[in-house]
Amino acid sequence: MNSAKNQPPLHLATIGMGSNLGDREATLREAILWLGEQSGNRLRSCSSLYETEPFGKADQGWFLNCVIQIETSRELQGFFRVLQEGEVRFGRVRGERWGPRTLDLDLLFFDDAVYSDAELTVPHPGVAVRRFVLEPLCEVAPDLVHPSLGQRASSLLGQLTESSRVVCLGRPPVVLNRSVII
Ligand code: AMP
Repeated sequence: MNSAKNQPPLHLATIGMGSNLGDREATLREAILWLGEQSGNRLRSCSSLYETEPFGKADQGWFLNCVIQIETSRELQGFFRVLQEGEVRFGRVRGERWGPRTLDLDLLFFDDAVYSDAELTVPHPGVAVRRFVLEPLCEVAPDLVHPSLGQRASSLLGQLTESSRVVCLGRPPVVLNRSVII
């Protein structure tokens, strides 16, 4: 009954993460570990941390960003619900009901799915135009092909004209040692 052919097929989800409030690195680390522990999920890769200038709205602190990849047996909608749950769980300053969010979780890609409804658009529409997404993405998956643009992540980064400051801190928020997360 437990043979591989009875297992649900695995999908590969690529997620962009960001935080600009509180202990940004701890929030990202705890959220990554939590996402990897949810049933059907397994953390596959994690980029370095990047300190990045706020995009769009300048009067706020700099972000820490990273990109992770998770293998999952969940389907697209179910996986997105886990991301939303994670944002609620880690994304508010404790005690303030409508307090500022400390965590953004963007579903960048889900295999090569191209999908849009009122809540969810995949690939995430910001992927191709945001340096703070493309730089960490290229660290973990430079050859990932954007399914609607037909271009590799590395090509999208090479063509990018958006020039907000993005500084690689050279260390990941969690260290992966094959299946063991230290
Ligand atoms: P933001 O506050 O900028 O992170 O935007 C969150 C909103 O974007 C939510 O209402 C989501 O339903 C919606 N959304 C649409 N597509 C995506 C996606 N691929 N990843 C994350 N949020 C998405």
